[in-house]
Amino acid sequence: MSAHDHEAPSASECADYLDQIVYFIDNELDEADCTVVRAHLDSCNPCLEKYDLQRTVKSIVARSCSEPAPSELRAKVLLRIRQVQVRITDA
Ligand SMILES: [Zn+2]
Repeated sequence: MSAHDHEAPSASECADYLDQIVYFIDNELDEADCTVVRAHLDSCNPCLEKYDLQRTVKSIVARSCSEPAPSELRAKVLLRIRQVQVRITDA
């Protein structure tokens, strides 16, 4: 299995999108930007994965406002994010 079956977007392009993804999750992008980010997520697996992880972290953080987040789970999520980031940087 290869991450390069399709022509992969450049790493710097993805870095720009990763900034946007944070705002995308928070619904802080206007409609045009949302469309662009969503299109990129459709075509870029590493970014889609990052997007899923960001949402997971957000829900954990949201939950941890009322109760302490399970530190083991949190560590696992943070480790996964680091792995995905490394993969994106290597792309
Ligand atoms: Zn990407």
